[in-house]
Amino acid sequence: KDGVYLEVQTTLYDKNDHLIFVRDVTRLHLLEQMRKDFVANASHELKTPLTVIKGYVETLDMFKDNLPKSMQKGIVNMAEQSVRMEQLIEDLLLLSRLESDDKREENQWHRVSDIVESILKTTTAIMTDQHKLATYISEDARIYGSYKELYSAFSNLIVNAVKYSPDGGEINIKWESSELNGIFSVKDQGLGIDPRHVPRLTERFFRVDKGRGSKTGGTGLGLAIVKHVLLHHEAKLQIRSLPGTGSTFSCHFPASRVRKDAVSQSTSTL
Ligand code: ADP
Repeated sequence: KDGVYLEVQTTLYDKNDHLIFVRDVTRLHLLEQMRKDFVANASHELKTPLTVIKGYVETLDMFKDNLPKSMQKGIVNMAEQSVRMEQLIEDLLLLSRLESDDKREENQWHRVSDIVESILKTTTAIMTDQHKLATYISEDARIYGSYKELYSAFSNLIVNAVKYSPDGGEINIKWESSELNGIFSVKDQGLGIDPRHVPRLTERFFRVDKGRGSKTGGTGLGLAIVKHVLLHHEAKLQIRSLPGTGSTFSCHFPASRVRKDAVSQSTSTL
């Protein structure tokens, strides 16, 4: 029947008999839809007033030299917080789009190195001299999916590797492919994560310690975005981490979404 959602579960009762459980989850489904709509609408509505506030803060920032020191500090603070709020709204809207399934960008073949190069153009700005970046991505590696979604997933992993390595260290970005799969991984030598926190990392707003998030300017939505993007690409996230040693976040894509560029393959064999 239209508009009714049922959850069906079967278990083996004895040798030949099965038990079938049918649960009406229509109400749960409707509540979940209401939650998604509310988050999407609220985020959208917050965008316009925030743009106005940001505009005024930027104007104030231009004239701040003539103001008392305490006010100058306040303006810098307002500017930082409005950027943070903007990022939060952008992330919430992106998550809503990822959950809604409609308005999705068409899947296409993309060069993995193109996506990563474009991310690194902006990420290098948040790195310090103590960070050493190494990328191991073959020019001919290609992935099938949405450029925007893959960009935000890979970007979140790379930005996290930088943010959670406050003392610097090596950051390795790698693409490995075989007949079975393609693996995109980001490895850092940063703070690492206690194993008991790992299962909750992809939950919305989950942070290992709340203080960490506010200092690093994160929204707590990055890994939730990664999880949803990977779901759309039939991929799985693997997290290996040791506190004080570092972390490796790997995205495992199925073989059907991975290929080597035929043109550069033939060029390299010439
Ligand atoms: P945030 O915006 O807080 O970075 P994320 O969803 O991206 O949110 O990450 C969730 C939490 O997982 C972070 O707050 C941090 O505690 C932990 N985390 C994520 N990536 C790393 C990493 N590379 N090293 C250590 N901790 C990490």
